[in-house]
Amino acid sequence: MNIAARDQQVIWHPFTQQKNMSSPIPIVKGKDSILYAEDGSSYIDAISSWWVTLHGHGHPYIAEKIYRQALTLEQVIFAGFTHEPAVRLAERLLPILPGKFSRVFYSDNGSTSTEVALKMAVQYWWNKEEKNRKKILAFTNSYHGDTFGAMSVSDRSVFTLAFHDLLFEVIFIDTPTAENINATKALIHEQGSEIAAFIYEPLVQGAGGMKMYDAFLMNELLMSVKLSGILCIADEVMTGFGRTGKLFASCYMNQHPDIICLSKGLTGGTMALGVTACNDTVYKAFVNDDKFKTFFHGHSFTANPLACTAALASLDLLEKEDCIKKIEWLSATNHLFLESLKTGPWKTKGWRTLGTLLAFEIKEGKDEYLNSISASFTKMAMDKGVYLRPLGNTVYIMPPYCITEEELKKIYHCILEVLEQLA
Ligand SMILES: *Cc1c(COP(=O)(O)O)cnc(C)c1O
Repeated sequence: MNIAARDQQVIWHPFTQQKNMSSPIPIVKGKDSILYAEDGSSYIDAISSWWVTLHGHGHPYIAEKIYRQALTLEQVIFAGFTHEPAVRLAERLLPILPGKFSRVFYSDNGSTSTEVALKMAVQYWWNKEEKNRKKILAFTNSYHGDTFGAMSVSDRSVFTLAFHDLLFEVIFIDTPTAENINATKALIHEQGSEIAAFIYEPLVQGAGGMKMYDAFLMNELLMSVKLSGILCIADEVMTGFGRTGKLFASCYMNQHPDIICLSKGLTGGTMALGVTACNDTVYKAFVNDDKFKTFFHGHSFTANPLACTAALASLDLLEKEDCIKKIEWLSATNHLFLESLKTGPWKTKGWRTLGTLLAFEIKEGKDEYLNSISASFTKMAMDKGVYLRPLGNTVYIMPPYCITEEELKKIYHCILEVLEQLA
């Protein structure tokens, strides 16, 4: 039996209705921007394999570093022990994060990084014996992961429907617009003293449909949140490491978070790792003679040496001049393509771009995740050798930074061809 047939006997795939699911495509190799399938076909990975791959697949520099580390120390308990890759990664991350951060807490993925952030923020107030601050503030249309805490602070949607009775209560506000900012500020002023933390995806709501909002207004909102003493948690799991054109999306604002969550591109997309970094104010609230004020959280693979090594190698590549130039080029090229989309005859709307991210909606059916145009779009694009996976009727691209001019042109061309075919 081939891989796909064997898969269908034993595997349960994520975010996938198993009934009548189309046969999964076995991938046998990844190199740079290209995924190679078992049957000999290949696809440009235009969404960085679910937003993780930064420098391309099978990068020899990262692979070599992981291999060497695996021969040296592949894993060790992280309570009572430490190791060079974990310490070095924290030393390198802290100074480049947007704000004054002093500690790194490691976990395994994006969802755990937000869980850690929420628990840190709630226990911060508990440790300070401020019993009133228990509520969490979050954006409507947000996505912070799939574990229970992360689901609770994510928008109530098709993803969370079965669990609504079990999710904790959250105050949801809309992302800032010129129309709503004053009302939102008033709400924060009124209820702020009961709010422990505000969690947000800075400037781009990823899973919510690559929705973008204004940096200037967000800065105003953050100012008012901070004025109420609320801890700010930036979830940069998707926006981190250059995706928005700056190293972090929070760099577009001068009001910085107290806690930041990182994953996805952290290891260049090679290994699972989560980081939750906090400032000294948060950290100090846990340093106490009282053992009850300990942060009782950890995972078996906390600070896995292989993953930390991969992250260090990815940072080496990211900080190189040609990678920074590539991000700038990608941003500028996206911008030009967007202009041609806007003026073209296709049934599209909501054109937007920020850095290396580009998104728009197809005017077809409802603006929602379950819009079936997504599956047809993916199929047609793959027939042309490009992997795209629209969120409902929202088409977006998020290529790895190693993408070549030729490959990028092919992605654009493919999008236009599919739009034509759909019309
Ligand atoms: C993907 C994502 C997460 C969840 O990360 P996982 O590694 O998939 O658990 C959390 N927050 C944001 C903003 C994300 O895009």
